[in-house]
Amino acid sequence: MSKQSPRVALITGANRGIGLEIARQLAVKGLRVLLSGRDLDAVTEAATALRSSGLDVEPLELDTTRADSVNAAVKTVDDVHGRLDVLVNNAGIRIEAYGRNPSEQPLHQWRETFETNLFGVVEVTNAFLPLIRRSEAGRIVNVSSLLGSLGMHSNPKSYLYTPTFKSLPAYSASKTALNSWTVHLGYELRDTPIKVNSVHPGYTRTDMNEGAGDLEVAEGAATSVAMALIGDDGPTSSYVHMGEVLPW
Ligand code: NAP
Repeated sequence: MSKQSPRVALITGANRGIGLEIARQLAVKGLRVLLSGRDLDAVTEAATALRSSGLDVEPLELDTTRADSVNAAVKTVDDVHGRLDVLVNNAGIRIEAYGRNPSEQPLHQWRETFETNLFGVVEVTNAFLPLIRRSEAGRIVNVSSLLGSLGMHSNPKSYLYTPTFKSLPAYSASKTALNSWTVHLGYELRDTPIKVNSVHPGYTRTDMNEGAGDLEVAEGAATSVAMALIGDDGPTSSYVHMGEVLPW
């Protein structure tokens, strides 16, 4: 692991939900955490609460779908820290309603979903890559979902093989595409110290699920935190949940 200290981590969409908890857990592990989000008031409030617990957390305005915001965030991180060790692409949206057939979900929801869940991730990652290359042990964690697994979706024996889990086609496809991004970028960076992985947090009780879910946010953040902290012998281009390798 890097001798550069403290390690600097940036989490997108970290003002609430799983992202906020990833930020907290990484700060508890001693990382300097840049808690980012598109609403500066919300990220400042969240960062202030963690700082009051003695954690090394800074707010950072970053709307992952706006190039000007992404570029401004890169400049700030470069000016203040000069490098980035960990990037957790956590920001995501799920705007489709359950209960429709895949063919009935409107196209504007596909476009909006891909704008955040795929294009925003690609833009943020590419913009920060020069700073991540300056790290001795760069880590990129893409927060995907089991709903991105074509293997699970196409298996009649899988619990995803139901009308309920087939009614979020744009969200699911955006996470499948995100997994493809993980594999492609991992290939490009295969001879560098940078590791790129996709994670499934688990079905977690956040606003995205209107509070429903199997896991508390502390558990939902755990896989991302673990993959942000993997050593030099850890995997790259993998897709995991709590140490278990998932089918693509
Ligand atoms: P959430 O509670 O809805 O929080 C989503 C976060 O993403 C919020 O902070 C939101 O910011 C932020 N965000 C959305 N668009 C953004 C943008 N353009 N720029 C910056 N931030 C943006 O969701 P969650 O449950 O914590 O989900 C976190 C990640 O885990 C997502 O990628 C999701 O797909 C994935 N996931 C969640 C579950 C689950 O069961 N919860 C399962 C599998 C995967 P605002 O407050 O400004 O809206």
